[in-house]
Amino acid sequence: MRPTMPTPSETFLSAARERLGPTAVDTTPETVGRYGANLLPGGDLPPAGVLYPGSTEEVQAIVRLANTHGVALWPTSTGENRGLGLKSPVRPGQVVVDLGRRMNRIVEIDETLAYVVVEPGVTYAQLYEELGRRGHKLMMDTTSGPPDGGILGNTLDKGAGYTPYFDHFGMSCGYEVVLPTGEVLRTSDGALPGSKTQYLSKYGYGPFLDGLFVQSNLGIVTRMGVWLMPRPPVLRSFFFTFPDDEDLGDIFELVRPLKLNNVVPTLIKVTSDVYAFGTEETYPFEKTGGKTPLPAEVRKELRERHGLGAWLVSGAFYGPSEEAVQPLLERVKAHFLKSGKARYISHAEAEKSRVLKIHIDTFSGQPTRDELGLLRWRPGSGATWFLPASPMVGRVANEQQALSRRILTEHGFEFVCEYVCGPRMSRALHILLFNRQDAEERERAGRCFRALLQAYAEAGYTIARAPLDMQQEAMAKLEGVPEVLSRLKKALDPEGILAPGKYGIS
Ligand SMILES: Cc1cc2nc3c(=O)[nH]c(=O)nc-3n(C[C@H](O)[C@H](O)[C@H](O)COP(=O)(O)OP(=O)(O)OC[C@H]3O[C@@H](n4cnc5c(N)ncnc54)[C@H](O)[C@@H]3O)c2cc1C
Repeated sequence: MRPTMPTPSETFLSAARERLGPTAVDTTPETVGRYGANLLPGGDLPPAGVLYPGSTEEVQAIVRLANTHGVALWPTSTGENRGLGLKSPVRPGQVVVDLGRRMNRIVEIDETLAYVVVEPGVTYAQLYEELGRRGHKLMMDTTSGPPDGGILGNTLDKGAGYTPYFDHFGMSCGYEVVLPTGEVLRTSDGALPGSKTQYLSKYGYGPFLDGLFVQSNLGIVTRMGVWLMPRPPVLRSFFFTFPDDEDLGDIFELVRPLKLNNVVPTLIKVTSDVYAFGTEETYPFEKTGGKTPLPAEVRKELRERHGLGAWLVSGAFYGPSEEAVQPLLERVKAHFLKSGKARYISHAEAEKSRVLKIHIDTFSGQPTRDELGLLRWRPGSGATWFLPASPMVGRVANEQQALSRRILTEHGFEFVCEYVCGPRMSRALHILLFNRQDAEERERAGRCFRALLQAYAEAGYTIARAPLDMQQEAMAKLEGVPEVLSRLKKALDPEGILAPGKYGIS
């Protein structure tokens, strides 16, 4: 009998073992299964193995070996991309490069110029703790997702938060990147040897390259600067409930001037009832006789239990003292109450509610685990994010709401959505929650996502970020950009070793 030839992955993994040491390479079935698992309708995507580099030089060595052996890599930093992919590669059999396990240092915090330099594994919880140890003089922006999620990975996926520093890509500066051919590139002013302004001057000299490494497969980022905000002495949030679904239109009309005129410094969240109480409740099958989606009367009963309406509006002011923020709160209160439909909830009252406290935490740059309760709404913890843009126009918001509700209801799912509003557009954070253990429901969730994607594209709205199993389809809706990205991919990654297929780019 002829001996079987080792596969390219096997020869690559044994070369990596030799170069990095045996503990930096893991191919055990338990690890491969864990890294392939995700929450998405498309199913698990097991890698061929997992590598744990400890330095930029080791990342370079891995990339060079991948070129030699023709093996595809998948970078992950903390792999907490819940509802978007977790640690899974986009295609099964890619080798996961887990940068977070060993490259997890806060390299530097500059308290004068208010920035931090992080390695890929630095989590929101870790930075929050370190800033606290230094007396909370500086405030970071955080997501409302997992505190063990990472700052660098979230930024590279175009993640966002809620404070004035919500735009994580916008607030990052100076990347160190290992290119798919193994060279190291420093972006912004960092391209100058000995640069003293790498983490300060974002746009540098010449064309701006940082964007090439966001939602892409053109480099592995090994270090990043992130700007921080001086922590204001006083934060006071405000909340309003509105009773009816159609009030969304009026809410958008009320929110837009507050953001266009920069009256409210945070983003303003407009949270649907199920998104709010779903953090604390599980689907009440006993009340619906096992039926889905949630009947209107049960939905009403649940929101009333939590003192909510159909919508919850929230935002916050910062200032040097209580007296300084009070007039701003009064102004916003008068603005919303003139609608005749809003009910005001004060900061002090909101602090007592777990459902409302989530928002105070995120406006304070404080990581919270409470919103993750949404993943328990349906059994089987399936979750996938549909993230279209919505213009800040009330009529359009209501049209989009009607479209989403119709498609979700037809497929047996609830409308669970939070509009995160800026001056001109909001990001409509739909989370599609389903039972991933039930094959029929999982398949239906996939169909539902595709129906949403198609309907929004036909109406002229695209998404900002896609779960792994829908990236190819979402990219295929665009014109021109996929071709340019493909040309860039061939130029920068001629052997196609870095995450081929990510965001539909090969
Ligand atoms: C209830 C709930 C609330 C959430 N709220 C928010 C929210 O408010 N804002 C938000 O943005 N998200 C939110 N999320 C989504 C998600 O959980 C977070 O964004 C999370 O921070 C992302 O995962 P991560 O930081 O561990 O990054 P990772 O999973 O490590 O990486 C994310 C992506 O970046 C790529 N990547 C990672 N590291 C590198 C690298 N070094 N070089 C090149 N590419 C790399 C990966 O391939 C992957 O595609 C929420 C999720 C849930 C369930």
